[in-house]
Amino acid sequence: MTQAKRVLILGGGFAGLSALHTLSGQDLQITLVDQRNYHLFQPLLYQVATGELLGEVIATPFRRLGQGNNWRFHLGEVQRIDLSQRKVCLRNNEILPYDYLLLALGTATNFFGNESITNNALQIKGLEEAEIARSKIFQALENASNCPDPEQRKSWLRFVIAGGGAAGVEFCGALLETLRELLPREYPELHFSEIEIILVHGGEALLPGSRSRQYGRIGTTGCGLPNSRVGKPRCHCLDTLVAIASVSHHWYRKSLAHFAGLVQRLFSSQ
Ligand SMILES: Cc1cc2nc3c(=O)[nH]c(=O)nc-3n(C[C@H](O)[C@H](O)[C@H](O)COP(=O)(O)OP(=O)(O)OC[C@H]3O[C@@H](n4cnc5c(N)ncnc54)[C@H](O)[C@@H]3O)c2cc1C
Repeated sequence: MTQAKRVLILGGGFAGLSALHTLSGQDLQITLVDQRNYHLFQPLLYQVATGELLGEVIATPFRRLGQGNNWRFHLGEVQRIDLSQRKVCLRNNEILPYDYLLLALGTATNFFGNESITNNALQIKGLEEAEIARSKIFQALENASNCPDPEQRKSWLRFVIAGGGAAGVEFCGALLETLRELLPREYPELHFSEIEIILVHGGEALLPGSRSRQYGRIGTTGCGLPNSRVGKPRCHCLDTLVAIASVSHHWYRKSLAHFAGLVQRLFSSQ
């Protein structure tokens, strides 16, 4: 009897799980390897960073997915792949042999070579990072609440988001929505109008790659939309980037996929 081929899937994000889903049930011996023991639903990380959701809601342990006859989970950080020997080496020196290898290890954040952002900005790509961001946001609100100096108070209430792609735009909306609902309820000493959120983008148009070109005009004209406010260019520590939009009003509906309408809603009346 021939032995089932050994398949290693490295990474249990959307790509890895999709591969697992496709291959499970076949005559294969599959091992899913990930450095953490849970699948992370990244699209809801904003809600964790803004305190709307608890981290565990978007983290599903791999073992809870129900390991079948032909697949199992292996916790470990991939360090090296030996293609000639068909082996994967983990950080703890474990060696996993394979017949077929699927790489689904995700991506690294692109800072577009901007060292200032690399060194100073918070990232929201993992659960821990989202929780750190949440903690910083709420610490800033606490600091502002206890700050008698108006200028300093303002600076605690100013949030700068780097990158006007889908992630930056959506986080901008999530933060605005959260603060607008949260302040009257939990921070009565702060007023929503004191909040300043600056979305910083290096290109000419928000949502690069979006099919609509209308977003490109926001930087210079405010899109002509009611209640929009375009801020003066601000650089802060961001060197080459120019602030293109200072948003004080928005209407944001939770949506995981419909980025296209988001900017327009962000600048339209509440
Ligand atoms: C904040 C945020 C919001 C997003 N919103 C949306 C959205 O609304 N819609 C949308 O379509 N996309 C969205 N995306 C993008 C989407 O989440 C990613 O495209 C998708 O998660 C990529 O899947 P992946 O499997 O390639 O990588 P990942 O989901 O990153 O999975 C990679 C896996 O590999 C593991 N891994 C990495 N390195 C190692 C190693 N050395 N050893 C072992 N394991 C390792 C990681 O732990 C992880 O589990 C968003 C992304 C972010 C960060």
